[in-house]
Amino acid sequence: MIVDFHMHSQCSDGQLMPQDVIDLAVARGCAQIAITDHDTVAAYTELDLQSQPIRLISGCEFSTQWQGREIHIVGLNLDLQAPELLDGLAWQQQARSQRAERIAAQLSRHGFVDAYAGALKLAQGASVGRPHFARYLVELGAVANFQQAFKRYLAAGKPAYVRTEWASIEQVCSWISAAGGVAVLAHPLKYKMTLTKLRALVTEFKNAGGSGIEVISGAQQPEQTRRMAALARQFDMQASVGSDFHQPGQPWAALGQIAPLPDDCEPVWSRW
Ligand code: MN
Ligand code: MN
Ligand code: MN
Repeated sequence: MIVDFHMHSQCSDGQLMPQDVIDLAVARGCAQIAITDHDTVAAYTELDLQSQPIRLISGCEFSTQWQGREIHIVGLNLDLQAPELLDGLAWQQQARSQRAERIAAQLSRHGFVDAYAGALKLAQGASVGRPHFARYLVELGAVANFQQAFKRYLAAGKPAYVRTEWASIEQVCSWISAAGGVAVLAHPLKYKMTLTKLRALVTEFKNAGGSGIEVISGAQQPEQTRRMAALARQFDMQASVGSDFHQPGQPWAALGQIAPLPDDCEPVWSRW
């Protein structure tokens, strides 16, 4: 059974409309998916939830901060009407728009005076994020490509990098549990932490109410999968899988084309 519980639509920084994401998942043979846009559940209000040819689990990828790093938590199977969840998402949107304004101010200091308007247009109604500024700089001809926009301006340590004041792990987990959902630590390998540090993170995440880990995130080596499965077992956490799909042709993984969970993991979807 193909399951993919981490993907993005145009409601955040993905390229496809929510229904096109679902149609692609169906074409790839997925049985269950969750669209997990960054700090928004707008995809679910755009979709006709009653008539989908696939099991659609509600989801959202929340940004949090922990020890000065940005950590992502995927909430799955959420009650999308829960007031705590909606308040939490409003908090995150506020943090995000403040950041976009500060990025634009930095870019303006480097001569890109229309960066905010340009990024806003590219966001097409979604909240403005770094990828939109990157695309704007590419279209302007200021950089050769998307990667270069990050390398020169937008990546951590570069002139237009601005840290966002996200909610804490504890806050995000409380929103997810108030909405009856499951909190999953997203892409643990992406943080490039030592195993000791990662264990400290998982300990705090679990204490805050987190109960799952993405044992499979995109394309990864079998050895990495074994390490993440061992981590999940050690902390008695359930295992989730996700491609982190943003757009067709992305190098790290294709929607639905991810390795299966090792047999000794308890899948997060055993809950529903
Ligand atoms: Mn993204
Ligand atoms: Mn992420
Ligand atoms: Mn993601």
